[in-house]
Amino acid sequence: MFDKILIANRGEIAIRIIRACRELGIETVAVYSTADKSALHAQIADQAVCIGGPRSTDSYLNTKALIAACEITGAKAIHPGFGFLSEDSNFVRLCDKCGIKWIGPNASAMEAMGNKANAKSAMIKAGVPVVTGSEGVVETLEEAKKISAEVGYPVLVKASAGGGGRGIRRADSEEELEAAITAAKQEAKQFFGNDDIYIEKFIVNPRHVEIQIIADEHGNAVHLGERDCSCQRRNQKVLEESPSPVMTPELREKMGQAALRAASVYGYYNAGTVEFLVDKDKNFYFMEMNARIQVEHPVTEMVTGVDLIKEQIRIAMGLPLSFKQEDISLSGHVIECRINAEDPKHGFRPCPGKIHSIHMPGGPNVRIDTAVYQGYEIPLYYDSMIAKLIVKGRNREEAITKMKVALSEMLIEGIQTNIDFQLNLLRDEEFESGDFDIGFLNRKDLT
Ligand code: ADP
Ligand code: ADP
Ligand code: MG
Repeated sequence: MFDKILIANRGEIAIRIIRACRELGIETVAVYSTADKSALHAQIADQAVCIGGPRSTDSYLNTKALIAACEITGAKAIHPGFGFLSEDSNFVRLCDKCGIKWIGPNASAMEAMGNKANAKSAMIKAGVPVVTGSEGVVETLEEAKKISAEVGYPVLVKASAGGGGRGIRRADSEEELEAAITAAKQEAKQFFGNDDIYIEKFIVNPRHVEIQIIADEHGNAVHLGERDCSCQRRNQKVLEESPSPVMTPELREKMGQAALRAASVYGYYNAGTVEFLVDKDKNFYFMEMNARIQVEHPVTEMVTGVDLIKEQIRIAMGLPLSFKQEDISLSGHVIECRINAEDPKHGFRPCPGKIHSIHMPGGPNVRIDTAVYQGYEIPLYYDSMIAKLIVKGRNREEAITKMKVALSEMLIEGIQTNIDFQLNLLRDEEFESGDFDIGFLNRKDLT
């Protein structure tokens, strides 16, 4: 049991975690960079510790400063949120050594899932369907040619250590293979310091459907349905919804069970997400497992009524899951729009700056997770996502209407945002039909 948690993050997710701690009667310690002195999370936490300069490597990724902040304040556990150190197994091991409880999965499971080529081989053994391709890392061009010919072009060359859509290249024929490998390796080396690659058949026009799972440290595990994240711009999620327009109760059950099998391979516990691609014929394929809470977790919270952050904390305290699979039912339709400080009219370039005035929508079944306020100056050092707007309707149509009303009411003055872009997306016929794939946003201009 612990009575004080340090939140190793910033922005809306730090606020979200502080709120969960308050409800559980747990004290909070915020950490902040010198660029975040006036950030909301640093102001509303019970305690706040400055951990370094504006650049993430000097502050939010500064592991020594974070451990020291725990020691100074007496925080006994760390919640990492998403991004930053949330999937850094070395840091988890360091916390273990220092007697600080990590609110997330075990380091070994995180490490195993972080190596995507090896994780795939393990999934095959566990009977989880994967995209056909190489079994593990591909060492030579000859091997790559042989495998690609077997699975058939086009293929994707993917970085084994990859994340955030980086280190992925497509080859449409054998002639393109060598260049794709070189480019993927180069990017992988640059971003992840590891240039191992593997090969996968390119699935044509699939959907991205992910399953939320949660497991305690006593072997109980439950899946909480899916989130459809097919609305992506250049591999970045823009809008997420649940249920998926292509889901059926039978498919959900199959994918839910596959996700739980995937998690059980490495004795995974706490919250996690198993990402799948779903093709036109509703075949699904394991893509990767994200060993952390995700940006879009509120979608699942609103559709199931489960508070995922509170559950994560309870699990880290050694408590059993507070529900069983049969207690989980999905109700209504939930949509989340990511609101970014960016300018869609100029290539979606980030638009940090001062917020002169702000008005947030409200009403029944409208949720806003944000850390911005009137007079706040968005620093240029961090992610451009400044708010998440989540709404729930009885069905998809009502959720779309509610989201349009909420977005039209939302005002953020002083900076450019993607609010109008989101409105255009909601008005789009293809989106409205529910019949689209992960490439559809790249094929049209909604700016
Ligand atoms: P989600 O599925 O939760 O939306 P994302 O893939 O969008 O997750 O990533 C969440 C955050 O983590 C984003 O800010 C993203 O830029 C960052 N991120 C994801 N993978 C990596 C990585 N390998 N290295 C650095 N940052 C990453
Ligand atoms: P990351 O770790 O960078 O998130 P993923 O393996 O999740 O990498 O892939 C990122 C995105 O690339 C997916 O969300 C999907 O849009 C696309 N993608 C990945 N693998 C395939 C594939 N085999 N066929 C088609 N698209 C793919
Ligand atoms: Mg992914």
